[in-house]
Amino acid sequence: MSQIQDPTPLFPSRLPKVGTTVFTVMSALAANHQAINLGQGFPDFPCDPQLITGVNQAMIANHNQYPPMIGISELRDGIANKIANLYGHQYDPESEITITAGGTQGILTAILCCVSPGDEVVLIEPAYDSYRPSIELAGGKVRAVSLQATRDENGQVSAYEIPWQALTAAINSKTRLIIINTPHNPTGMVWERADLERLALLVKDTSALILSDEVYEHMVYDGAQHHSVASHPELAARSFLISSFGKTYHVTGWKVGYVAAPAAMTAEFRKVHQFNVFTVNTPMQYGLSSYLADASHYLNLPQFYQAKRDFFRSGLTSTKLKLLPTPGTYFQCVDYSKLNIPQAKLNESDFCQWLTKEIGVAAIPVSAFYEEPTESGVIRFCFAKKEQTLSNALERLQKL
Ligand code: GLN
Repeated sequence: MSQIQDPTPLFPSRLPKVGTTVFTVMSALAANHQAINLGQGFPDFPCDPQLITGVNQAMIANHNQYPPMIGISELRDGIANKIANLYGHQYDPESEITITAGGTQGILTAILCCVSPGDEVVLIEPAYDSYRPSIELAGGKVRAVSLQATRDENGQVSAYEIPWQALTAAINSKTRLIIINTPHNPTGMVWERADLERLALLVKDTSALILSDEVYEHMVYDGAQHHSVASHPELAARSFLISSFGKTYHVTGWKVGYVAAPAAMTAEFRKVHQFNVFTVNTPMQYGLSSYLADASHYLNLPQFYQAKRDFFRSGLTSTKLKLLPTPGTYFQCVDYSKLNIPQAKLNESDFCQWLTKEIGVAAIPVSAFYEEPTESGVIRFCFAKKEQTLSNALERLQKL
């Protein structure tokens, strides 16, 4: 007779504190409870059919074998042109740009190639959940600092700011890497030009490298601009710049992104990349390279997502949830702690579970972006959804 037993530990876990990522957990919960999934960040609308046609044509033209390990030259050329036009830095597509299996693989590979046991990596919490495990897999030590929240007279968060003092204190001779993320997941905060200047000053006399996660680069609103590390020569000279086509072209499932970095850093990056994924699927690269040639596809994105943000925010004002600012990304954070219901006292994770099961809208607890338990009564919604999906969710949220 078979017996259910605890899984036998065959070897010590490399990530003993890690469970399944919150995005996967919340998407499964949403599906089980037929909830509207505003949790995991992905669009529920189709991508441009032209992009699908491009991939299709590439398959028919027999672009189905391994592409070059670093990615096809057409796509790397297109990326180099885009970065040069938008941010004024000319990367060499041959030695400085690598196509990756999405942003997350680019982040892990960049960390694995430069962080050794004993090295320290500084990150700013709330931080995307892959950063810390990636650092731990490399044997690095995390030094986390927290974003500073500015509050208005009612105690509501009106803005987030970079904790310069804590950041300065966290950097020392062991600092190998500083991870920044702009526009920032989950708060939507965007770095200003002055922030880049300040970071450049901070690292000037150190050997710290920068990993800049800019996967939401085309989602900056109200006429503001995205300030890439590529726009700052001193930072570009020590940065891995990460971006993602999944976010920009509504194809998160394709898992295609890229990493741009100076040649000496890229050479080390590729040593790890070639034994990690080796390369990234060919037809998608061809489809993306022809689509990338038309800049309007990404230049129109701020306007496209700003309309969704404004629609969702204006709907939320008639609920009892308190809105936090959203200058960038496709995420809207809200404070539920002042709701006049007993569940307002729940921690963020339990509140999200309850919201998914009982109200029928899935969200992500912001506490999942911290290592130490941090509760501020704030959860994250993704508004990369059809207007009808957002309306349906808003109708349910009115009940709170
Ligand atoms: N970046 C996405 C988010 O923050 C999720 C990606 C994932 O599920 N791994 O929602």
